Parts: sequence; C-alpha cells; structure tokens
Amino acid sequence: MERVELADSLRQGQALIQQLEAESGVTLTECYQCGKCAAGCPVAFAMDYTPRQIIRLLQLGLGEEAIKSHTPWLCASCQACYTRCPREVNLPRLMEAVRQEARRRGVIKEKNVEIFDRAFLDSVKRYGRSHEMGIIIQSNLQSMQPFKDVMLGPPMFFKGKISPLPSKIKDVANVKEIFARARAKRGNKH
Ligand code: SF4
Ligand code: SF4
Repeated sequence: MERVELADSLRQGQALIQQLEAESGVTLTECYQCGKCAAGCPVAFAMDYTPRQIIRLLQLGLGEEAIKSHTPWLCASCQACYTRCPREVNLPRLMEAVRQEARRRGVIKEKNVEIFDRAFLDSVKRYGRSHEMGIIIQSNLQSMQPFKDVMLGPPMFFKGKISPLPSKIKDVANVKEIFARARAKRGNKH
C-alpha cells in the first residue's frame, strides 16, 4: 500500500499559507466565509472558484488548488470585494500574491491575461503611461490572434480614443527606477 506523507503535505500547505499571508498582508482566519465578496464580484460568473472559495481552500491548507485555479488570473483587482467585506480582507492583494506564486511555479492558467499584463507593464516602463495601441498590438501578436478586435481600431482612432504614437511623461527615468527597485526586491525575478 502506498504511504501518504500527510505530515509533509500539511507542513508544505502551512508554509504556503504563511508566505501568501506575508506577501498580501491578509490574515486568512479573518475571513468568516459570509460570501459577500463573491456576491459582489463582477467576474465571479467566469471563475472556477469564487473569491470566497479561494480563501476557503487556503484556510484548509489546499493552496495548491488555489494556485492551479483560473480565478486569480480573472480577478480584475476592482476592489469591490474589499469594499464589501465586513472583515476588511484585502482579497485583491491576496489574488496578486497567488498570481505571483503561480508565476514562480510556472502555472499560468490564463496565458492571455499574463501576456496582456506584460504588455501593459512594458508600456508603462517605457513611456511612464499606457500606450493603448501599442499594448493591443503587442498582446495580440504574442497571443497569436493578430486580428482580434481589429474592427474597433478605426472608430476608436477617429474618436481620438487611441493614438498610433505614444506620448512619454517627463520623468520616465523615475518610473524605470521604480521597476528596477521592484525587480531587485523580488531577487530579479519577473
Ligand atoms: S466578504 Fe470577507 S469575510 Fe466574507 S467571505 Fe468574503 S473575504 Fe470572507
Ligand atoms: S477585486 Fe477581484 S475578486 Fe474582488 S470583486 Fe474585483 S474581480 Fe472580484
């Protein structure tokens, strides 16, 4: 009969909980599972686990399941859950910590979200602000769907909503410095 090392997996589960709590500033036991977060989340319909369920998985030491979930990648960081939560559980920050851990483990369940995130951050790093057209082109090419939403381009251009040329802020060097500091903090990863 195969031996199950329960003590080991419990220890690993506990270590993951402590790491995610430290990174997000969230104390998981603060959540009493009322479900107000899930009820107000605009993206819950598309998630495999609701925000409340993600917390429950973590509380039960099933962090691996949370990390493998689509939910953290679909979270739009809109803060609706945090605003509604009677226990002030900062779910958007917890979702970010779960995403970071999923990145470290190479378990990215929504590749296109990751590609879009990177295109957005590249743009902010380069210009100090987002250049929408550049972000769309970069993320469409990298996600192998070059013509996605292409018909929306001309009307948005003629209404002045997007521009082919990026505009830079004056102190873009400061923004680059912020990126460098964030990278150094994470040991040059990502
Ligand atoms: S609203 Fe807050 S306390 Fe209620 S389930 Fe969500 S995170 Fe937990
Ligand atoms: S921050 Fe994320 S989890 Fe919270 S309500 Fe918005 S999309 Fe849902």
